[in-house]
Amino acid sequence: MSVGCRVVRGPDWTYGNQDGGEGHLGTVVEIGKPGSTNLPEKTAAVIWDSGGRGTYRAGQNGAYDLRIFDNATTGVNHPNIVCGSCGQPVIHGMRWHCTVCTDSHLCTVCYMADKHDLTHPFRRFDTASSEGEAVPKREGCTEIQAKGIFPGAKVVKGPDWEWEDQDCGIGNIGQVTSVGCWARGLTSVRSAVKVKWSSGSTYGYRVGHEGKVDLVYIEEESGGSYYKDHLPVLDHTAEVAPSSGIPREFKVGEKVKVELGKDRFQSMQEGHGAWNPRMASYIGKIGTVHDVSTQGDVIVRYEGLTRWWLHPETLTKVYRMNVTTLRSL
Ligand SMILES: [Zn+2]
Ligand SMILES: [Zn+2]
Repeated sequence: MSVGCRVVRGPDWTYGNQDGGEGHLGTVVEIGKPGSTNLPEKTAAVIWDSGGRGTYRAGQNGAYDLRIFDNATTGVNHPNIVCGSCGQPVIHGMRWHCTVCTDSHLCTVCYMADKHDLTHPFRRFDTASSEGEAVPKREGCTEIQAKGIFPGAKVVKGPDWEWEDQDCGIGNIGQVTSVGCWARGLTSVRSAVKVKWSSGSTYGYRVGHEGKVDLVYIEEESGGSYYKDHLPVLDHTAEVAPSSGIPREFKVGEKVKVELGKDRFQSMQEGHGAWNPRMASYIGKIGTVHDVSTQGDVIVRYEGLTRWWLHPETLTKVYRMNVTTLRSL
């Protein structure tokens, strides 16, 4: 499992309407770690689309509080497998394979939208390398309305907002116009939305991309229905989304920052430009890509002409995107 998964309440849920009611979506923002008291192993922290945050069991004491609604946001894809309904040439997120018509695959959006024969049972593949899990035919199964930050929802700035006054000030309300992917390369599909603000401007925001949540709703919208018992539980043992195989490219002039803790930052620098104790004070600061070495290490320029030679995986891109670069599906 990895941050950015979109989730709904699962089979062992015992938290009332902390999620906003059954069917309301949230985003996994942090995964529990061994030895952590805040967020122990086999748990996950979720920010619900309504804005609340909670910690839930993902296998702790054998309990599963959450189900994965969509993992396309974390970069899961199935290259060269076409969805038999919408025709998408790469299936993003969970893949559904008909056990009757063995050459028939559906993307999760089409599966939940009742495409294909409802009396045919399917197998669900959570990632490209998973073995698949049989699910019953959809006919007669319980359907739940998905609700949250979907097109039509009214939203305000949320916990990870870093876009200054794009919303034209505190408490301003925008309306979601579409769901799309953040950034290039289709590495995290359905992980962002476009919002139209009362000023008339439209911008893209993260709802799942790298576990970031830029918005919360004040009025949710329905996002279709889902077969809850067909969705996988969020399980700490589940494989992390395989890397999409698309290299992380950095371009000269791009804005970046390090968002790691000092120890992790230092250990990742081994063999990649080494460590200088002064680097710790640059965590969280925005720098500019000055050059990229032939090995792929990134030379980042900070204020005051400081330059550090950094491991590319230590860097997070700082986007100042507008609607023209947020591609809709
Ligand atoms: Zn489809
Ligand atoms: Zn079939």
